[in-house]
Amino acid sequence: MKRRLTLHFPREAVHQPITYRLAVDFDIAAKILRAQIAPNQSGTMVVELSGDIDELDAAELWLERQGLGLNRVPGEIRVDPLLCVDCGICSSVCPSGALRFDGPTARLAFEAPHCLVCEQCIPSCPLEAIALVLETR
Ligand code: SF4
Ligand code: SF4
Repeated sequence: MKRRLTLHFPREAVHQPITYRLAVDFDIAAKILRAQIAPNQSGTMVVELSGDIDELDAAELWLERQGLGLNRVPGEIRVDPLLCVDCGICSSVCPSGALRFDGPTARLAFEAPHCLVCEQCIPSCPLEAIALVLETR
């Protein structure tokens, strides 16, 4: 199964080989969707982890023991049909194919089940038609 997490790195954890340890110790593939980490500073990373559910749970505990803060990606992407002009720009940055420009109809198609909530599409839209809607619970 897949699980998307935002990892918050304290300064002392920035140099840890996290993705290597996840692969070797937990048999988990970590795909980095977004990262903002400068050397010797704290940072954040959005990752998609793929592996067995027990290993994912164990890996989350291990990450917390390394001093990282963890958040399950907390919401979903919405495209406002009233703002969208179907230019297709956002589909070019979408790593999962959830946003797709349909040539024959010249319309943007969004398939939410394929969305990784990586948020790369949000700044790509010139009309600010894409937003992350946070869960309220
Ligand atoms: S957040 Fe946007 S760019 Fe990322 S997978 Fe979802 S639709 Fe694609
Ligand atoms: S970039 Fe914005 S306006 Fe263009 S297709 Fe995507 S959501 Fe619509």
